[in-house]
Amino acid sequence: MTKYVFVTGGVTSSLGKGIISASLAKLLQARGYRVTIQKFDPYINIDPGTLNPYEHGECYVTEDGAETDLDLGHYERFLNVPTSQANNITTGRIYQNVINREREGQYLGKTVQVIPHITDEIKRNFKILGESGDYDIVITELGGTVGDIESLPYIEAVRQFKWELGANNAIVIHLTLIPFLAAAGELKTKPTQHSVKMLLEYGIQPDILVCRTEHHINMEIRKKIALFCNVNINSVIESIDASTIYDVPLLMLKENLDKTVLAKLKLSGNKEPNLDSWKDFLGRLKNPTKDVRIGLVGKYVELPDAYKSIIESFIHAGASNECKVNVEYIHSENINPNNVAEKLGHLNGILVAPGFGNRGIEGKLDAIKYVRENNIPFFGICLGMQCAVIEFGRNILKLKGAHSTEMDEKTKFPVIDIMESQKKIKNKGGTMRLGSYNCEIKKNTKAFEIYGKTKITERHRHRYEFNNKFLKQYNDAGMITSGMNPESGLVEIVELKNHPFFVAGQFHPELKSTVANPHPIFVKFVTAAAEHKYGQKIKKNK
Ligand code: GLN
Repeated sequence: MTKYVFVTGGVTSSLGKGIISASLAKLLQARGYRVTIQKFDPYINIDPGTLNPYEHGECYVTEDGAETDLDLGHYERFLNVPTSQANNITTGRIYQNVINREREGQYLGKTVQVIPHITDEIKRNFKILGESGDYDIVITELGGTVGDIESLPYIEAVRQFKWELGANNAIVIHLTLIPFLAAAGELKTKPTQHSVKMLLEYGIQPDILVCRTEHHINMEIRKKIALFCNVNINSVIESIDASTIYDVPLLMLKENLDKTVLAKLKLSGNKEPNLDSWKDFLGRLKNPTKDVRIGLVGKYVELPDAYKSIIESFIHAGASNECKVNVEYIHSENINPNNVAEKLGHLNGILVAPGFGNRGIEGKLDAIKYVRENNIPFFGICLGMQCAVIEFGRNILKLKGAHSTEMDEKTKFPVIDIMESQKKIKNKGGTMRLGSYNCEIKKNTKAFEIYGKTKITERHRHRYEFNNKFLKQYNDAGMITSGMNPESGLVEIVELKNHPFFVAGQFHPELKSTVANPHPIFVKFVTAAAEHKYGQKIKKNK
């Protein structure tokens, strides 16, 4: 029978429920359990696909094309197991399901209410992954903070669920904050006590408390928390600030979080977790033999969460190269032909980020022209690839005013154009070309050198594409279309022949980089950046 672990948050948001959930899952996986994590978000959007990155950070896309919360990225990066639509549910989706059923007449004669109809639908969704038979343990992270009006139905659903399944089959981990008052020189437990009291008011006694803190919490404080929150002292887990999120599984191991969870679920905790490869990764991450500086050119740079998966992919690729990757955020709106050398001249590589709309486009084009002409390694993702195509069109093919029809509908040279399948679509939510698609790679190309095979799949999120009317012209002039979708003929990868590293993809490789499997384009891009800096061929370590 599948066991369930719920992770709630108290006191403040941003305590890192996603990282704690992923770390616990990692430890349980390393002990041989089949684990998955799902996230329930209390907002009314059906999914975060229609949210601005400033609102919500990056939108993470799964293999099956779901637009989801960025925490799913952490789950995949830690566990190396793909997630799916079932791993991210929002209040919007819960209500939509209930309202559709109401219209179909399934509740005929009844008043449809938050309790029991919404809570029943939440509980049904809690169980979907568990009922697949694929998992021993399902960890469910509840978005928001206990006490928020919008998370109440979820808390109530957890209360019912826990009661229905019995104490050893479903447990609640509450993540809270132990603030340090500098003036008093003390760690304070009161906010945690209050947050647990609030959970108790809703009928939930948390089984385990994970306490975020900047300083170690001593035995005295642990005892106090245990006494006031009705938990065993072993169930007070310290979660101290870490220098990297990838340390957290080991910190949780030291605190016996996994053992405590297994004991509460009456599962065996005898087998020690095998974390050899994880530790090997951390060793390489923390002992770099070289460093590079890479510019991330985008327009959401004020909010690094907007590029979460890209940043994490650089961490994986850096470890793989034993190279510290310093990422410098560069606002594309601030780049122009006069300052581009000053802005980018010191960098060992440039990544032009994904994005939508016209803002900051010209700066991206200036950046690409500069790195193309100066042989600086370049990596373009999605809009970044489209910009590489536009820049080449304008400056090499001399197609004056070449553009994407996303930015200029009337351009004389629509080198990037809306996909045929997108032309009739009016709705914005969930309608892009989403999820995993095949890509066939041509031999004797950089792309083939990177992947080492001809058949790959990558994840997508876009409406526009390379306009194949210009294919021959580009190939003849040295921009090679080295990856194509075999079914539709869409261009997936472009690269430049006479450049040390100029590779761009219509897909999002950052969504598939994990600790266990760093993405090969990121790995080779970092190698190229190191070669650019140190001026020699770098021998690959791993
Ligand atoms: N705006 C572009 C498109 O829709 C690129 C999307 C992206 O970068 N994710 O095709």
